Amino acid sequence: MRIDRADVIVTSPGRNFVTLKITTSDGVTGFGDATLNGRELAVASYLRDHVAQLLIGRDAHRIEDTWQYLYRGGYWRRGPVTMAAIAAVDTALWDIKAKAAGMPLYQLLGGESRERCQVYGHASGRELPELFDSIRAHLDLGFTAVRVQTGVPGLPSVYGVASSSAAGDGGGRYDYEPARRSARPAEETWDTRAYLRHVPSVFDAVRNEFGPELALLHDAHHRLTPIQAARLGQSLEPYDLFWLEDVTPAENQEALRLVRSRTTTPLAIGEVFNTIWDYQTLISEQLIDYVRSPVTHAGGITGVRRIMDYAAMYQIKSGMHGPTDVSPVGMSAAVHLGIALHNFGIQEYMLHDERTDEVFGPTVEFAGGGLRPSQEPGLGINFDEQLAQKYPYEPAYLPTNRLLDGTVHDW
Ligand SMILES: [Mg+2]
Repeated sequence: MRIDRADVIVTSPGRNFVTLKITTSDGVTGFGDATLNGRELAVASYLRDHVAQLLIGRDAHRIEDTWQYLYRGGYWRRGPVTMAAIAAVDTALWDIKAKAAGMPLYQLLGGESRERCQVYGHASGRELPELFDSIRAHLDLGFTAVRVQTGVPGLPSVYGVASSSAAGDGGGRYDYEPARRSARPAEETWDTRAYLRHVPSVFDAVRNEFGPELALLHDAHHRLTPIQAARLGQSLEPYDLFWLEDVTPAENQEALRLVRSRTTTPLAIGEVFNTIWDYQTLISEQLIDYVRSPVTHAGGITGVRRIMDYAAMYQIKSGMHGPTDVSPVGMSAAVHLGIALHNFGIQEYMLHDERTDEVFGPTVEFAGGGLRPSQEPGLGINFDEQLAQKYPYEPAYLPTNRLLDGTVHDW
């Protein structure tokens, strides 16, 4: 079964997505998500200009060989653009292999290890009443775990908090979409001391209101030094967090040694990581509890399964990145892999825009606080290419961040 075509489709039904479609000589099609939030066209070009022609004529069944050919053969290794492109090819080839086998993809990955993949949603509010409404809305939808983000007194806008205008639908949902459609990134301001003072009081209030059972998560979004991160982890210990995410900038794995030695709050890291090498110290020294890399950004099913098999040796579980910048193709791949992995932990899950769902079709089933994969052969994608063409790319960027004195800070 030879690869005949590799087409890159950029569409923007509410937000930008890059999708790779591979077609074989027998007419089987496979899809892969290549969406890199705010840098979408770089991956589209990598695939169109440098990868697509290399795929033509290759045996579609040789997934590992193709992965290694693109990883080692490109000479320039790793990085989010390269690894998102490889992820899209890898995912599309797994989709094709499973369709050729007449099975849903998870069957080729070892079959189901569980009934569903537990997910967490994004609850947020500028102040406590709004946050509580958001948590209740998630509970009403059946979520059993929520990420909690709130405003910080003195800061006009804070990561993870939906503004009333961003909620968009009259306030019923507080989903947070940080990438804004504009020619330049928005700028936000940040004050770490104000944040560290405020956050424990939020979790105290949430535990008092919602009790001990609800799984609570929090994202510090790379903004703290190691000692600040250790202090935050300690101050949140009474509230029994499911995890504390991205407490320090991700590049320095060694920074987690200090954090880990000072707190028992579970740590999740790695949504900006894209290879197993980015986790070498974190996993082998057991400095984290959850791996955040998604299929979409870390070399596909093949890349993430490699990381998770390594993590399994150290009782470290998955917690794949999964907000709306992971397309329904990427989310489907995550759930097929997640349902099969023994060391699955939890899956991040935000509801996509209705326009997005119309273009990609339903790819996962949400029930009982978790996701189940499609039972159709392959990934179960029913992509409407004609509809996709109605939504051309629109420039959109994640915000940037400055301290109160104007210094550029991690966003
Ligand atoms: Mg995060």
